[in-house]
Amino acid sequence: MPVNPTALTADSIRSAPKVLLHDHLDGGVRPATLIELAQQTGYGLLPSTDPVELARWFSESAYSGSLERYLETFLHTVGVMQSREALIRVASECVQDLAADGVVYAEVRFAPELHVEQSLDLDEVVQAVLDGFAAGTQAAAAAGHMIRVRALLTAMRHAARSSEIAALAVKYRENEVAGFDIAGAEAGFPPTRHLDAFEYLRRENAHFTIHAGEGFGLPSIWEALQWCGADRLGHGVRIIDDISLAADGTPQLGRLAAYVRDKRIPLEMAPTSNVQTGAAESIAKHPIGLLTELRFRVTVNTDNRLMSGCTMTSEMTGLAEAFGYGWDDLRWFTLNAMKSAFLPFDERLAIIDDIIKPGYDSLSG
Ligand SMILES: [Zn+2]
Repeated sequence: MPVNPTALTADSIRSAPKVLLHDHLDGGVRPATLIELAQQTGYGLLPSTDPVELARWFSESAYSGSLERYLETFLHTVGVMQSREALIRVASECVQDLAADGVVYAEVRFAPELHVEQSLDLDEVVQAVLDGFAAGTQAAAAAGHMIRVRALLTAMRHAARSSEIAALAVKYRENEVAGFDIAGAEAGFPPTRHLDAFEYLRRENAHFTIHAGEGFGLPSIWEALQWCGADRLGHGVRIIDDISLAADGTPQLGRLAAYVRDKRIPLEMAPTSNVQTGAAESIAKHPIGLLTELRFRVTVNTDNRLMSGCTMTSEMTGLAEAFGYGWDDLRWFTLNAMKSAFLPFDERLAIIDDIIKPGYDSLSG
């Protein structure tokens, strides 16, 4: 007998299994934790010591349209994440927050080079975050939520440590480090500056994604794919610039857009974050609508949960409202993400068959 589908609400979307490929550890610290860590470590620069006010300050800064104010938010989170204890706590809480939001698989990224201002070295940073992920996974299981979280190691585009960080990603690949990424200002810092790191990773059969096509346009995407060999694109929103509409309204794909779609290159899109950085005008006008219609390999992500005040649930709820998406669409985004994960094929398949498909089957009726 056919069963009626569950209505799409924030609660039902939260209960659906979700997959997250693009989330920054230093962009998802709980406001209350930030305040406590600042007190413990003597960090005196926080703009507020009230969790609600602090959360509002982060959101206002992210929406200010000022890059300086946006970047200042990360100085505060990174500022308190300089000890093993702090990294373990933030990493563990990250896993628990994602699990409570219904995320079943996540790749969370962080830049080890940003956490060595005090006594830690790069290896100790990675080890602390991995230990925090393990502790968070246990705590989530005890609370009834099963989740798998792996790390992506990020190198900063303006710095010169990408080869070291890439070597670290390979060194820890058997310990839940899934791959490598570069992040930071795109304009003026093309990915080809880090070609040595990408060529090394390819020789090592390792995986990497590159932030591209967010703050800068098609040349950045083209370099990331055709010079560097990225497996996935961090955001990739500006691929829309290579799609034009014919007189009758039919979308025409340029060569790069066609390549991205044909090769099923995953786009790690984060709607709220993209609006905040100006990569998209609004959620309703976000290129994710057309790219989904054209069946690019679109995935939905949070990017920075603290700055954007978002969760996977709120991102999917916002998209469902803006574009009229139903369970089939949310399931498609989730399958896209799981297929694109830096995880062995058989393990991806097991999560799809055992968790994602049954989860959406029971919701879509
Ligand atoms: Zn990002």
